[in-house]
Amino acid sequence: MIAEVIVDIASGETDRIYDYLCDETIAEGSRVRAPFGGKTVAGFVMRLKERSEVPKEKLKKVFSFPDGVPALNGECLSLAGKISARYKVPKALSLRLFLPPEMRSGKVRELMKNYAELKVPLEETEFSKTAVKQAAAAKYLAENGKTECSFLNGMFSGAVSALEKKGYVTVTREQALRDPYKSLAETEAPVGRELTEDQRRAVDSVKGDERTVQLIHGVTGSGKTEIYLTLIAESLKQGKTSIFLVPEISLTPQMLSQLRARFGRNAAILHSGLSAGERFDEWWRLRTGEARIAIGARSAVFAPIENIGVIIIDEEHDSSYFSETAPRYSTFDIALLRARHNGCKLVLGSATPAVDTYKRAQDQEFNLIKLHKCINKKPMPEIVIADMRREARRGNNSNFSVALKEELKKCLDSGNQAILFLNRRGYSPTVICKDCGYVLKCESCDVSLTFHRDEDCLKCHYCGGRYKMPAFCPECGSKKLSYAGTGTQRVELELKSLYPSGRVLRMDNDTTSGKEGHYKILKSFGEKKADILVGTQMIAKGHDFPSVTLVGILDADMSLHFSDYRSGERTFQLITQVAGRSGRAEEKGKVVLQTYSPENDVLRFAVRYDYEGFYANEISLRAATAFPPFSKIVRVLVSGEDEKKTLEALKTLYFGLERLYTESPDKFLFFNKMHAPIKRIQNKFRYQVLMRLCDTSVLPAVYEISASARTRDVLVSVEENPSNLS
Ligand code: ADP
Ligand code: ZN
Ligand code: ZN
Repeated sequence: MIAEVIVDIASGETDRIYDYLCDETIAEGSRVRAPFGGKTVAGFVMRLKERSEVPKEKLKKVFSFPDGVPALNGECLSLAGKISARYKVPKALSLRLFLPPEMRSGKVRELMKNYAELKVPLEETEFSKTAVKQAAAAKYLAENGKTECSFLNGMFSGAVSALEKKGYVTVTREQALRDPYKSLAETEAPVGRELTEDQRRAVDSVKGDERTVQLIHGVTGSGKTEIYLTLIAESLKQGKTSIFLVPEISLTPQMLSQLRARFGRNAAILHSGLSAGERFDEWWRLRTGEARIAIGARSAVFAPIENIGVIIIDEEHDSSYFSETAPRYSTFDIALLRARHNGCKLVLGSATPAVDTYKRAQDQEFNLIKLHKCINKKPMPEIVIADMRREARRGNNSNFSVALKEELKKCLDSGNQAILFLNRRGYSPTVICKDCGYVLKCESCDVSLTFHRDEDCLKCHYCGGRYKMPAFCPECGSKKLSYAGTGTQRVELELKSLYPSGRVLRMDNDTTSGKEGHYKILKSFGEKKADILVGTQMIAKGHDFPSVTLVGILDADMSLHFSDYRSGERTFQLITQVAGRSGRAEEKGKVVLQTYSPENDVLRFAVRYDYEGFYANEISLRAATAFPPFSKIVRVLVSGEDEKKTLEALKTLYFGLERLYTESPDKFLFFNKMHAPIKRIQNKFRYQVLMRLCDTSVLPAVYEISASARTRDVLVSVEENPSNLS
């Protein structure tokens, strides 16, 4: 047989099919070892065929990995081809998306364990009077079946080898599966609830509508999760598989335990918080069909399953659904390809759908399903605006408005809990010299350093660099270095002096390292071991804390004045999401939103939970200014350590793209080259060509030209409607 092989080298030069000889143990989708240029490299079998154009004596032979099942299924092979064509990346790079990184690096060793099994009936065993332990172990095996040797030896010390010698048991060595969440309770949520009328209507609508994409728009607490679970259960009943995507699964342990309770070992969880071995095992359970539900963040859209019955994207508006490394795919696009391939539904859910998504639903491209009310018919928490300009005029320059302080006191006095949100970690984001105005900056990046009081150091949030806090200004020698602005550490300290008896927990990137870092903090807050939780964006996600009656949004302007066409949309989403953390149980919740622009439209709509109003306002703004979804923003970023080479690549790129522009200027609304807003990150100089397209037919050419401007030293990447323009 001849195998068409893609070698696992992500470069343009080797990005083609090579023919090899192979034996019949190799199937399409198998991983193989292939002799290549004097070395042995890993490769993937794309196709098998009878003969090759290459003369037989020139063909080399490939050998298979002992994988058992081909690593890639047919759908994955075809999808990888489409991804390479769409984003102009080598096939090896697209194929890698479908494999756990551990498989490629070869770092995971399968965890092998010894198991003992009784090979004669218990009645036929005979033991001397002193061999009590052996007799007990044999009895245990007769009752419980095959058992791990280490477990048996723990209970009946040394019994296994004695039994083996007598010929009563066989010991086999087998692969043991690691279960990543065994510490989570498996029965926290009742199984298979009766659906409400709204939920039933939604499920029927998803199943009955002929369109592929279904958008469920319902506020937090309107019961979307139960709808997803019902759809997954029905797919399972039909013998099909499912994919369930959530933004950041490590932040939602409650969701995990609910899924475990409902689907047990049928659910496989894929996320970056797992150890390499655990991730590999979960992936493998899916590939072999032992598990039929893939749950995870965006990369789970590449789950190695077949015969998919439903794909769900929860919180579809979340920016984590866009990859930030090549290929910069959108999870929605991949999910849509898979849904079409399998003829199944793609279900999107959100309380605050992305403006782009909602427009497509309004235009009837997607089926729009609205859930009108909360399950327990509770009103949404009241949001009050605290005008920080007025506070400043009254001489209050602290981070807490009078209203927030009063509400905090009330909340703590009545024994409830509060959550304070500030999307900035560290103590202060800028250290500035009061005498000369010098700002401390990272040596490798063009950004200011953040002071971290916990570790008494300065950190760069772009490259992770750490610096000692200087005693004097490096520019003028003055001692007057001051901390400008506020981060979560500063809020935590100020709270401790405002409410000495209040117990404060902080949750941000600095406090949540380790696999269960988030989980531990959330758990201890849930157990009321603290009164106030201060945190960044990560506290905004779907946790359910019944005792939280107050949420404070310390700086609503931070995302509002971000230089991005989506800043209004983001702010609305964030406020709605954070506000949803308040008053989840009996007591009515309250939200204090601090801002310097209280008259802003977006905030006004957010305060009233008026998504429709917000959307109408936003979409007319976008139409008037011809921003997405009425156009597409494309940025090609050029970055490299050597400034001269980077500029050369920029030139090549620019000339190529300029030709495109002059050929059909009517397809462009904007076209220019410039410095990227942050001129340098991790010692790499950054330039960009920025375009706004009203006709995307030039997009494939943009990818083509960008790929050819790439060199060994200079990275050139294309981003469509980038969510981060730094
Ligand atoms: P969402 O995902 O839209 O935010 P959830 O699925 O978390 O909403 O549901 C909100 C609350 O309502 C949860 O506490 C959930 O347990 C409860 N709930 C959901 N569906 C039902 C139902 N059919 N019957 C009773 N309670 C339900
Ligand atoms: Zn100075
Ligand atoms: Zn840096």
